[in-house]
Amino acid sequence: MKNGIWFLKGVRKGVKTEKFPKTGPVEIAPWSTEIKGSGEANCPTDAITNGKWDMTKCIFCRRCFPNYEPTGNHEIFTVSEKMHQFRRSFYIYPLDSGACGACNTELHALTAPQYDMHRLGIFFTNTPRHADAIVVMGVWTKGMEEPLKRAYDAMSDPKMVILMGACAISGGIMGEGALKSGEYNVEIGGCPPNPYTILAALLRARGD
Ligand code: SF4
Ligand code: SF4
Repeated sequence: MKNGIWFLKGVRKGVKTEKFPKTGPVEIAPWSTEIKGSGEANCPTDAITNGKWDMTKCIFCRRCFPNYEPTGNHEIFTVSEKMHQFRRSFYIYPLDSGACGACNTELHALTAPQYDMHRLGIFFTNTPRHADAIVVMGVWTKGMEEPLKRAYDAMSDPKMVILMGACAISGGIMGEGALKSGEYNVEIGGCPPNPYTILAALLRARGD
């Protein structure tokens, strides 16, 4: 639904929250979803090899269009381990390792009335000591190695590491990924990921 319409509905009827995840996403931005097609891709990050799309590398630049187009499938994430302990209360701690700001904005959008992550028992915390999961955003920078280690060590068990956005997962167009395979539990594709994708990944990570 267009932002203006959400605003008017909110003014007329009070806060309007999406029914997601009980229903599918409403009016999802198409170029934040899975991409499919065939033929020449001309992809700057090699996100398409032999016609196969790799969500960990795609920066959604649209250079592959019209041979490749978004499908509307927002479930572009992987979860290697579900932690059911967090089903009733899931505290996440964002860590910016060098993001452009767009991943941060989309993550923050989860607190807006449209998505309202609090109704699902998901909250932000500003200290890793209270966090169940750390959400790493942005291309990897050496200077953030120590802060990430200190934040991770400060968290109590069980704990989860989430890589959010192409930069954090693979380095996107300009760097390298934050962590090696086996050092994280969840990858959320996108540049930036759509709030629906983030929400769906968080819910799946805690076993919903
Ligand atoms: S949108 Fe850009 S980065 Fe993604 S597959 Fe197409 S060309 Fe590659
Ligand atoms: S993944 Fe895209 S939106 Fe997120 S920090 Fe990197 S460039 Fe910015």
